[in-house]
This record gives sequence, structure tokens and C-alpha cells, in this order.
Amino acid sequence: MKELIAKYREKGFKLTPQRLAILKFLNGNTSHPTAEDIYSNIKKIYPTVSFATVYNTLQTLKDKNEILEITIDPQKKHYDPNIKPHHHIICIECNTIGDIFEDYSEALRLPDYIAMEFKPVGSHVDFYGLCIKCQKKERRKRQ
Ligand SMILES: [Zn+2]
Ligand SMILES: [Zn+2]
Repeated sequence: MKELIAKYREKGFKLTPQRLAILKFLNGNTSHPTAEDIYSNIKKIYPTVSFATVYNTLQTLKDKNEILEITIDPQKKHYDPNIKPHHHIICIECNTIGDIFEDYSEALRLPDYIAMEFKPVGSHVDFYGLCIKCQKKERRKRQ
């Protein structure tokens, strides 16, 4: 926790107790929470926190490249404290998001007609599937 505080202080990020709670919640979190998820968790500790405070903090962190905003779910934005480049897979039933740390850069080589017009600077692959829980549910339905 001390390291977390030092890291953000160094970057000139104003740390209020609520902001700190958000950072603590996100630190090492691999569940790709939505702003609503984060808000409902912070509210348990700080009942007076507003959704706007949570949302603005997320935007600030995003602008400072401290978290990723993930748009794989068309209904809601999700947030990821892991800013290492990686890909995501989303369950089409329950919207659970998983991390994929494979490097697809070779497979993503652009065809010549695109390469003539664009110089690629990055790529992102989204995968869609059924998570293990939803697969089990499907199987039960079919039996
Ligand atoms: Zn699922
Ligand atoms: Zn992720």
C-alpha cells in the first residue's frame, strides 16, 4: 500500500481517501470491473462517495495511462489495471472478460495494399466465447 501511495504521489496524482480506495481496489485486480462495479465496492467503505468521483478518477487514471479502458463489451466500459499490452476474450453470455497474453503480431501482419497506406503502430484483438460456467449451463440445458 505504501508503495502504491508513493508511486501516485510521485506522479502528482492528488490522493484523497476515496481515490486511494479506488486504487487499492484496482491494484492487481484481474476481474475487469466496470465503473459501476468499482463504485459499489468503494461505497461499502465510503458510503458518501459519488459515482461521479469514481468515474472521474477512472478517467484521470486512464489519461495518465495507469489503467486501460476496455471496450470489448458494447454495453459497458471495463477497466484493467494491467497496462501491459494484451488481448481480451469476453463471454457472450455473462460478459466475463479474460486476459490473453499471447503475441499475435506475426499473424497480424498487414496485407500489402493496407501497408502501402498505413503504418501500423499497434493492434488489438478481441475474442468472443463462452466461459466455463456458461458452457456448463448450456450442457445442463441440453440434457
Ligand atoms: Zn459466461
Ligand atoms: Zn485485461
